[in-house]
Amino acid sequence: MKRIAALLFLILLLSCRTEPAHSAAGFACDTVVTITAYAPQETVDEALRLCSDYEAVLSKTAAGSDVDRLNRANGAPVEVHPETAALLSLAAEIGKASEGAFDVSIAPASALWDFNAGTPTLPDETALLAACERIDYRNLVIDGNTVTLKNGAEIDLGGIAKGYIADCVADFLKEQGVTSACINMGGNVVLIGAKPNGSLWTVGVRDPNGTPEQSEEVLTLSDAAVVTSGIYERGFDLDGVRYHHILDPKTGMPVQNGLASVTIVGTQSALCDALSTACFVLGEEKSRPVLERYGVRAIFLYTDGTRSEYPKP
Ligand code: ADP
Ligand code: MG
Repeated sequence: MKRIAALLFLILLLSCRTEPAHSAAGFACDTVVTITAYAPQETVDEALRLCSDYEAVLSKTAAGSDVDRLNRANGAPVEVHPETAALLSLAAEIGKASEGAFDVSIAPASALWDFNAGTPTLPDETALLAACERIDYRNLVIDGNTVTLKNGAEIDLGGIAKGYIADCVADFLKEQGVTSACINMGGNVVLIGAKPNGSLWTVGVRDPNGTPEQSEEVLTLSDAAVVTSGIYERGFDLDGVRYHHILDPKTGMPVQNGLASVTIVGTQSALCDALSTACFVLGEEKSRPVLERYGVRAIFLYTDGTRSEYPKP
């Protein structure tokens, strides 16, 4: 009896010591970032600042970033941050695992698309074909922290960087002793633990045919990463066709395979981010061996309103 009373007292003490939830929201990597953590406000604010610090290293457009220096090096070896080298190694691995469906050397093609233009226009076909000649993840040579881009390759980490940064933010919070948090970087969600009262976090999977607030379904999870790649994120409609930002590395054109979004549920957000793009390009059938290999779950939503998941329920 005494033991039980002592245990109850301990639980009460621990629950009283739990920090209240604090949130911070901002804009980084071209997207809205929100962090909610059961931690002091200063810790949450610092976690948000980290996103901009990583963006300065991994962005294609920030002058002097590792990616900028690599893309301007004309094939010369470039010393990069260890984090960049680690991220590029993972990108190359997923490039191989997806047989090039995910390819961070997509930059020559992605640079020809402007999804924010007032008047949407399609890239010049000849220019797009020439760009595709330079796309091949095998042109990335990584030796420790030294990276070389061969054969005119250029990189664009848009398909993996946000996931990677979300992992880094989660690692930072865990190092600070945080055991309950939710990080959302524009659809790249990382959950640390469950809520302090033990209930699970809820993550909505957007209905591709609805408004941004409408969920197709709601996942309840703890200690997980959830990443969605969808045709609604960036793109334009022209002559009845949806041109979006997930490109087929073989053609440089937006993938048109009936998919509206792919959501990956796993534990490592960078991996889930790369896989969401890879599986979108591969399509459901060809994705299965890749999903099995990495032990992640996937939800495929189609433009006709149908849905499918892996593994099958
Ligand atoms: P977001 O989270 O911004 O919606 P995704 O994870 O869906 O991004 O990836 C799309 C982005 O990845 C594009 O904006 C582009 O920068 C890059 N990208 C497009 N196609 C590919 C591809 N086949 N392989 C790797 N990266 C790609
Ligand atoms: Mg992605």
